[in-house]
Amino acid sequence: MTLAQLQAEAVQRLIAAGIDASEARTEARLLLSHASGLSREELYLQMHTVLLPAEAQLFGLLLLRRERREPLAYILGEREFYGLTFQVTPAVLVPRPETEFLVEAVMQRMQGHSSPRLVDVGTGSGIIAVALARHVPAASVFATDISPEAIAVALGNAQRHSVAERIVFATGDLLAPITHDAPFDAIVSNPPYIAPQEIETLKPEVRDFEPRIALGTHGDPLHFYRRLASEAPPLLSLGGLLAVEVGLGQAHDVARLWKQHGLTDIGTVRDYAGIERVVIGQAPSRCNFRPVVNATVKPVH
Ligand code: GLN
Repeated sequence: MTLAQLQAEAVQRLIAAGIDASEARTEARLLLSHASGLSREELYLQMHTVLLPAEAQLFGLLLLRRERREPLAYILGEREFYGLTFQVTPAVLVPRPETEFLVEAVMQRMQGHSSPRLVDVGTGSGIIAVALARHVPAASVFATDISPEAIAVALGNAQRHSVAERIVFATGDLLAPITHDAPFDAIVSNPPYIAPQEIETLKPEVRDFEPRIALGTHGDPLHFYRRLASEAPPLLSLGGLLAVEVGLGQAHDVARLWKQHGLTDIGTVRDYAGIERVVIGQAPSRCNFRPVVNATVKPVH
């Protein structure tokens, strides 16, 4: 079979497996490119040629994995985020385009800040930490994750994008491993926020393949926001930011949590679909201000 025939058959099989017709063609081409080692341009020019037997066999295996609804990013081993290519494995969440809004919002607010100290809590594949290290000049970044496998992937991505020397990676629970490195100018996170019953309703790529620990919580979907609202503000510098990605319909509750914990200038950012996707608050710039009394009052005789 020629590449054109292989591609046409793959598109039909992917559609039959429940993959959107609008995506099946691009996916078939990406799988073909991965199996043959040909770039998309080369592929386009060689559609009338045939694959080597080993390449054809590999293509068959990749196609089978995708038919079983394994995420394309795990099969290809990479995904684009914020104009950079990241390695992804089944140990980490597949980067989502919505998360670019979080990175963008933090970047904008860090402009004019000289050498800010930034934190990415629950870094996963490291997309937030790496994108911030690349785009915020002179930033020092701290990235934590409870999963050592995720930290290994994130470190590889930092090396791939030449920012490993500006990111400190630490394995542990939320901010616990870096408490002693405070204060920070921004604490950023895309924590697990999907309710357990909702995970079961999601598409097979997410429900059956992505790490549950990265997707959701055991019970309360706001669990990590509650913890961040109480654990992050004491580690922020004056005017420092607490910025998170939130799930559908969670922005209002998260904004309220931020307010309850003394954060000010709370704002939200909508994503491509018009969903309030990012909640940002600021530590007051004169947090816990108390006049310092250093004069001792002498009793008057
Ligand atoms: N920070 C990573 C991301 O945004 C991982 C998030 C997570 O695992 N919940 O993709």
